[in-house]
Amino acid sequence: MEKIVSLCKRRGFVFQNSEIYGGVNGIWDLGPLGVALANNIKKEWWNSTVLLRDDVVGLDSSILYHSKVWEASGHLKSFTDPLVECKICHERFRADHKKEIEEHGKTHSKSQWTDVKHFNLMFKTFLGPIEDDKNKTYLRPETAQGIFINFENVLSTTRVKIPFGIAQIGKGFRNEITTGNFLFRVREFEMMELEFFTEPGKDSKWFDYWRKERLKWYLNLGIKKKNIKLVDLPKEDIAHYSKGTSEIWYNWPFMGFSELEGIANRGNYDLTQHSKLSGKELSYHDEESKKRFIPYVIEPSVGVGRAILAFLIDAYSEEGDRIVLKLHPKLSPIKAAVFPLLANKLPLVKMARDIYDNLKESIKDSIAFDDRGNIGKRYYSQDEIGTPFCITVDFQSLEDDTVTVRDRDTTKQERVKVNNLVSYIQRIINK
Ligand code: ATP
Repeated sequence: MEKIVSLCKRRGFVFQNSEIYGGVNGIWDLGPLGVALANNIKKEWWNSTVLLRDDVVGLDSSILYHSKVWEASGHLKSFTDPLVECKICHERFRADHKKEIEEHGKTHSKSQWTDVKHFNLMFKTFLGPIEDDKNKTYLRPETAQGIFINFENVLSTTRVKIPFGIAQIGKGFRNEITTGNFLFRVREFEMMELEFFTEPGKDSKWFDYWRKERLKWYLNLGIKKKNIKLVDLPKEDIAHYSKGTSEIWYNWPFMGFSELEGIANRGNYDLTQHSKLSGKELSYHDEESKKRFIPYVIEPSVGVGRAILAFLIDAYSEEGDRIVLKLHPKLSPIKAAVFPLLANKLPLVKMARDIYDNLKESIKDSIAFDDRGNIGKRYYSQDEIGTPFCITVDFQSLEDDTVTVRDRDTTKQERVKVNNLVSYIQRIINK
């Protein structure tokens, strides 16, 4: 884990927020490579969840909602974690995080705990200049409610028919009692959430479908089978609204198998609640069966940062003194790097520049150009950030219009015609 954190900082994947002021706990910024990796993850999620399907549409709702939303959803009352405080040092912990409490007990032998309090995780704020109860609202802790309150809008403006889904990627905020393990538990994070609406009675089938579909997504993007699994949660561990929850667990180096993504059957709790409090009927009329019902909803939900962490950990490997991020090429922040063999030979530099410009234009993705140091160092530098191909222009290139293409994982080199480079790279990226 330390190696990954240090790589992230050294190469500009992740920076600590407000670092020049000493940093803020549980808040991180994405650097140039981090934002590229995050965008690629979000693109893959959006493609598989929305674009390549004909039964899911997209949405982008705001972060601030009417405060009634949180009353209806139950978050005001129940979005809490159990909190205990050590009476000696006043450090606070989550009462259900037994391991952390045990660790604390070891170093503070006299630690005595306060009674368990329920701490609401939502960040409070005010709409407008008057800070009173009437104007109080919250930063959303999940994007899902933005989907439920727009359910009717989507129904009336699109041609969706049940079963269908509404997907959204956006920020969520949770004032976690304790943060830690780098991007694993933070206070501000982007989420990728799908609410898939079904007829009651068909919910179990769709719940099962999305459990399997989501697991497949990670495996297709290269997560090793041994490091990921689906787990069905026992009834006592699931949220107040849920009729069943599964989780996709990843084998984290700092805590073993634990949640990467949640997949919940939320029943019709949310739409029913919003109908009650808003007075607007949020139901669906099925034209074929002539039935009217409040749909059930299946929700796969994952944090972008937690997914970044899983992909980075899974891809990280050391081979001799070489550090390689074996990311799926679709996720790699930089798709290819172009090098002139020697930086001071003008014809080599010019040809490499032309190839670089052409690749950027044709692949429409991030391509690197590097003429510093020796070729070995340039390879090393690209391996560490997961660039799948390094393309070198050498003296033979000037004669026969071929270049060497070195594969990140095998380090094998192949001579490829310059004219074929774009299709060569695209074939492997899209595999
Ligand atoms: P926990 O019980 O661990 O606090 P949760 O069950 O409340 O988490 P969900 O509400 O299911 O979490 O959140 C959906 C997804 O959002 C999680 O699977 C995770 O990927 C991500 N997530 C939730 N909380 C955080 C956080 N504090 N930091 C980063 N990602 C988070």
